Amino acid sequence: MTELAPYAVTETNSRGRRIAEAAPQGRSEFQRDRDRIIHSGAFRRLEYKTQVFVNHEGDLFRTRLTHSIEVAQIARSIARRLHLNEDLAEAISLAHDLGHTPFGHAGQDALNACMKAYGGFEHNLQSLRVVDMLEERYAEFNGLNLCFETREGILKHCSAENAAQLGELGERFLNSRRPSLEAQVANLADEIAYNNHDVDDGLRSGLITLEQLEAVPLVAAQLNEVRHAYPDLPERRVVHETVRRMINALVSDLIRQSELNISKQSPVTLEDVRSAAAMIAYSPEMNEQQRALKNFLRTQLYRHYRVLRMSTKAQRIISDLFGIFMADSRLLPPQFMQQADVNHARAVSDYIAGMTDRYAIREHRRLFAVEEE
Ligand code: MG
Repeated sequence: MTELAPYAVTETNSRGRRIAEAAPQGRSEFQRDRDRIIHSGAFRRLEYKTQVFVNHEGDLFRTRLTHSIEVAQIARSIARRLHLNEDLAEAISLAHDLGHTPFGHAGQDALNACMKAYGGFEHNLQSLRVVDMLEERYAEFNGLNLCFETREGILKHCSAENAAQLGELGERFLNSRRPSLEAQVANLADEIAYNNHDVDDGLRSGLITLEQLEAVPLVAAQLNEVRHAYPDLPERRVVHETVRRMINALVSDLIRQSELNISKQSPVTLEDVRSAAAMIAYSPEMNEQQRALKNFLRTQLYRHYRVLRMSTKAQRIISDLFGIFMADSRLLPPQFMQQADVNHARAVSDYIAGMTDRYAIREHRRLFAVEEE
């Protein structure tokens, strides 16, 4: 590993774990965090959770698992180039979606609506609940007992109301301070990954076309280059080559601009990073271009009538499940029923949020279809 920048997160400047543990042997603290995340149950369930497309729609679409792996790859490349802690950027990336509900954004919105009177549902906060409490794998603590900096990176957004209850971890949302550069990298790597794979998945599904994408400057620039250089290339390869170049253009721009921001603000320590403005950023031109792409995806793909039909169904499944478990906690599996004595709505929310797409569909069928036993 190349030498880290003085403002990178290290084991020395880390705020450590909530429960003290012996130092790991043969791996760093942040490698240990990454390993714990990979071995968690919530991580394995990401394989059957989706963002835009529901899992059974096709085997080639991204799931949250492959998405998280792509985010980790992009984050590591950027972290390495900026002399930041690659292991931390990787750990945050692999954990960032652990708290997501089944059925992507539709599921999250539906669960949040159900939980309105009980403190709401935020997927970021749920990812933190998973690693802090819900995983039950270790003899000596609940959750994964991750390092402060990994948990800080997982909690990307948070309402002021929730932040006030999170102690040290919530402080930055109240004092408008920044997380580590590694967390900032993971956050933007997430955006780079989903914008690009949604283009790829959107084209494969036939919901959007290359012709439509020609109106999006970020895509058009790369697409024209590919078509010009390889006039006879089959369409699928044109798409892959274009997406590959888009990721490259975004990552290169991000590294260039971030290096510039870092040299302007010249942080010396990790605390300098936390009190400065965000330094990991695109150039203003690239920012404009990637916003246009996001906008395109929002209007043409995420609001496509076929996606909306599936989302509506997903919302119904979530709200039906929430309703039936709230009406009778005895229908919950035993471990959630126990929690329901403490906080009924939160126990139901934890149970539903942990479901995969297909588990939620089956559970709905088991509880509502009269022909099932
Ligand atoms: Mg994500």
